[in-house]
Amino acid sequence: MSIIKDIKHLARVMAIGVFPVMIFLAGCSDTVNVDNGAGQSVGLMVDGQDSIGPVNDRSFISAASAIGVGALSLSPQSNEVAGFTNGRPPKYLSTPWTSGGDTFNLDFRPAIGIPVTVWIIKGPFTEQRQHAIEACIRTSAIWHNERMGVIFSPFNIIDATADPEASAHYAFPNGDAGDIVWKPLRDDIGFVAGQLNIYWVDTVNGGTGTGWSNFGAQIAMGKNTGDELLSHEIGHAFSLTHVDSDANFNIENIMHSASNNRQYATEGQLFRAHLNPVSILDALYNARPGELTRTCNYSNTATPPCPAIQKRLWADGGFPAN
Ligand SMILES: [Zn+2]
Repeated sequence: MSIIKDIKHLARVMAIGVFPVMIFLAGCSDTVNVDNGAGQSVGLMVDGQDSIGPVNDRSFISAASAIGVGALSLSPQSNEVAGFTNGRPPKYLSTPWTSGGDTFNLDFRPAIGIPVTVWIIKGPFTEQRQHAIEACIRTSAIWHNERMGVIFSPFNIIDATADPEASAHYAFPNGDAGDIVWKPLRDDIGFVAGQLNIYWVDTVNGGTGTGWSNFGAQIAMGKNTGDELLSHEIGHAFSLTHVDSDANFNIENIMHSASNNRQYATEGQLFRAHLNPVSILDALYNARPGELTRTCNYSNTATPPCPAIQKRLWADGGFPAN
């Protein structure tokens, strides 16, 4: 066998064997390009299909602007990416993967600014004004740390303590009674249409540490509520419900009903807070124009295209990413 023949053979192998394989691998790798992040790590939940079958909520965390998500093709189930990062609202992206190399751009929108009006009904005003400010600061910090992508803009505080009808509203009842208990606040104290209105009273359902949301534009807060309770009540306004009886959560989640340690929200909760059409972000503020909405009920099971409520891209205290 001549050396020349061997070289020809090698050349033929490279031409028909090795080289096409290299092209094949390069061609199937898919990328999500992230734009307008705030310089923090980005988390992705990816749906599509790989060589094994449908991929649902596969997790990626990266500080890179181009994030490789593997070799995906069109799934009969769900083809999309949800992105999360600090200081930006979650971003939904439709990704009709092909068998080739796909690149999709995930452009985060700026933080959603929601104007809020606080009515101080039971004084002393300066004390309760400070209380409301502390609650605003704590909730803003939780939202930033947990990637809610929402800021108060502005957080208006009105002195309603001298309103002749104020004392009639010191004791707010059980808020689930219906609009019969919420309408008088609007009529007697005041209400700014198109905004979340927070009424700081004395007691709510008999307790000074209790708050209540009507899952809409109104919240009642007791005189001695914890600063982190506001993140809970606004969570209701964002369509979220209690997690108390769910072993995937503890008192550190913002939606636990009895806690002074609320600080975490899962990506499953963030997804619902933004995409559920009944969330005030959509229904009241219309803060996501042109963005997808999707009704995702409370569920421990990922039911594409809805992630499980406990889906975490980052650990929440003792609960690891899942
Ligand atoms: Zn609650």
